[in-house]
Amino acid sequence: MDKSLYIVIPCYNEEKVLPITAPMFLEKLNSLIEQGLCGENSKVVFVNDGSKDKTWDIIQELAKENPKYAGVTLSRNRGHQNALLGGLMWAKDRCDVTISIDCDGQDDINRMDEMMRHYHDGCHVVYGVRSKRETDTFFKRATAEGFYKFMSLMGADTVFNHADYRLMSKEALEGLSQFKEVNLFLRGLVPMVGYKSTSVYYERFERIAGESHYPFSKMLNLALNGITSLSVKPLRYITGLGFAMSAFSLLAIVWAVVSHFVGATVSGWASLICVMCFLGGIQLFCLGIIGEYIGKIYSETKRRPRYIIEKTTEDK
Ligand code: UDP
Ligand code: MG
Repeated sequence: MDKSLYIVIPCYNEEKVLPITAPMFLEKLNSLIEQGLCGENSKVVFVNDGSKDKTWDIIQELAKENPKYAGVTLSRNRGHQNALLGGLMWAKDRCDVTISIDCDGQDDINRMDEMMRHYHDGCHVVYGVRSKRETDTFFKRATAEGFYKFMSLMGADTVFNHADYRLMSKEALEGLSQFKEVNLFLRGLVPMVGYKSTSVYYERFERIAGESHYPFSKMLNLALNGITSLSVKPLRYITGLGFAMSAFSLLAIVWAVVSHFVGATVSGWASLICVMCFLGGIQLFCLGIIGEYIGKIYSETKRRPRYIIEKTTEDK
């Protein structure tokens, strides 16, 4: 089989991890080649997302050592999603199929064999899905699962417990390249591309070294970005909330008029303040959500580039 596979790996400040995981990826690639699941011209591609440490130096060294390693460096840090897209788009013009994976060894590389088999059976997208989260802390697990549930409630449909470990064929990547949005949320976009797809299941390990770049605040950011990029349901909820609040105030007016005639209107300052604060809070919250969408429109209309490739290890 001579289909070329590029394993695309975004890296940000990973000098501690790369020397350990890079040989693991290479070994995996060689075993895939031996099994005839991909061709000799396959590669492991690292995308350096504007790291501030020695990550790019390590990648360049690796590429010098073995032509099966390649590297792409972005002009500055653009975040995981943009870095991954940059790598995938670079790979798309050079290979037949890609597998994206994080560089920290948390995702089980041994599922790649199965992914490639599905590809040869005609699947264009294969999602790597975590079957368990036992290695994550309770807090990480609870927030991550809450994240998927909340996302689907808000109308942003994604594959449950799937991060960005996935196989995509050249055709699916061509489809993805037609989505021009600047606010990237690949997990939500890939299902929209379509094509025949399936999932493989694996257990997620602990990070081999270094620290996670996705603390709670960043995850909240990703969720908010995912929801506002994929769905306008929150705006509809606001309309519903506004409607319910006006119905409620109508009742409150009737109550106020009736109590006036009954003659019990002296005190009531406390309840008035409570209602005012409550309504004020809801209004600010709703304005905030609408503002989020306006912010999105603002950044989308500018059409700024999502990533800029500064150089690659294949440049002469
Ligand atoms: N990453 C990146 N740019 C960033 C942050 C992270 O390319 O700005 C990469 C990072 O090197 C890793 C992957 O994205 O390969 C996932 O990050 P991390 O492991 O920190 O996230 P977690 O697995 O904890 O969700
Ligand atoms: Mg990780």
